[in-house]
Amino acid sequence: MIDLRSRRPWESDEAAMFRTALRRFLEDEAVPREETWRAQHFVDRAFWRKAGDIGALLPSVPEDYGGSGGDFAFEAIVGEELGYCGLTSFQQIIHGTIVAHYLLAYATPAQKAVWLPKMATGEWIGAIGMTEPGAGSDLKALRTTARRDGDSYVINGSKIFITNGMQADLIIVACSTDPSRGAKGISLLVLETHGANGFSRGRNLKKIGMHGSDTAELFFEDVRVPAENLLGGIEGQGFAQMMGQLPQERLGVAVGAQAMSEHGVELTLAYTRERKVFGGSILDLQVPRHVLADCLREVRVSRAFMDDCIARHIRGALSAADASMAKLHTTEMQSRVLDACLQLHGGYGFMEEYPIARMYADTRVQRIYAGANEIMKEIIARTF
Ligand SMILES: Cc1cc2nc3c(=O)[nH]c(=O)nc-3n(C[C@H](O)[C@H](O)[C@H](O)COP(=O)(O)OP(=O)(O)OC[C@H]3O[C@@H](n4cnc5c(N)ncnc54)[C@H](O)[C@@H]3O)c2cc1C
Repeated sequence: MIDLRSRRPWESDEAAMFRTALRRFLEDEAVPREETWRAQHFVDRAFWRKAGDIGALLPSVPEDYGGSGGDFAFEAIVGEELGYCGLTSFQQIIHGTIVAHYLLAYATPAQKAVWLPKMATGEWIGAIGMTEPGAGSDLKALRTTARRDGDSYVINGSKIFITNGMQADLIIVACSTDPSRGAKGISLLVLETHGANGFSRGRNLKKIGMHGSDTAELFFEDVRVPAENLLGGIEGQGFAQMMGQLPQERLGVAVGAQAMSEHGVELTLAYTRERKVFGGSILDLQVPRHVLADCLREVRVSRAFMDDCIARHIRGALSAADASMAKLHTTEMQSRVLDACLQLHGGYGFMEEYPIARMYADTRVQRIYAGANEIMKEIIARTF
């Protein structure tokens, strides 16, 4: 049997040790709690703190800022191991792979020294609010404004579908500081939510999958943030900053999609080998064998491209188009593979107690967020 979890070409000895410790941690501390998180629709803060204790929250942030000091390989390992455990409640990707890296890239050294250590320990949970009711794919249409008033900005508007939004202590808010300038008027402001007057959270939105991950509406009514919380210090840089960070976000989604697809194949091989029909195993029948051969071929071929993308990203050489290709390809593959895997589970595949059912439902959104797959095609096509 082909080992889908063999050592990656981009994985150093240190990274491999991190993976082993993380796998044990997730099996002991996360897997038994996933059911509870799905029922309550959020992950307990106590778990965030435990994940901070083992260095899983900011794995690729320098140690000076409380992180684990690894490269993107460490980030990818977190995404892969969560995928292999079928865990979708705990959104480290937003907190560590995305928000922490905006701060690392654009905050002042003093701000990094305050914010990042709190995020590394799990004392603070991070979120990023770009999407609005009227602006998703077309981000430059966002209507949330930030008006300069003395040494503050005053934010007015709303955000929707914000992951970790119900609990977040720090939120990067995409605002327009100059609505007359479209994309060039967009700026990113960091909101510390504790005691922020005028800031409120709406519903924890009900979803068709990813039930343990909280997804919030956020409202801003004359919310003041200090002017120094403008990321990068100059107005109008927000759009370019988002474009700069989105490739890592998309690669992070692709990493999870790849691992979850591989895990789907592993689970289904085991299930069909065990399940008896007409006097033999399902896996003895040619049609299921060929379906699984196709699934295995898909994930194996995709793995080669993913390993190449991850290695290039570690070297700082991954293009926006290739990150979009990775996100597009792996999430489309994930939908195809998990659908086929669910089918091979028969009626049990439709029962939530079976991991394949949960993975199938959790998969659907992967083609929509972090930039819908149609937008990924636009980004790829810009290279023509
Ligand atoms: C569970 C979940 C978590 C999320 N987490 C976050 C978060 O943490 N932070 C955040 O800011 N956002 C988050 N989002 C929002 C997500 O990024 C957006 O939903 C996504 O970008 C699509 O925007 P939209 O929903 O407004 O759809 P729309 O932009 O209205 O798109 C609708 C359809 O039209 C298509 N379309 C749009 N423009 C084009 C085009 N030019 N060419 C071809 N087709 C096009 C789209 O591909 C899509 O199929 C989350 C969403 C979900 C569901």
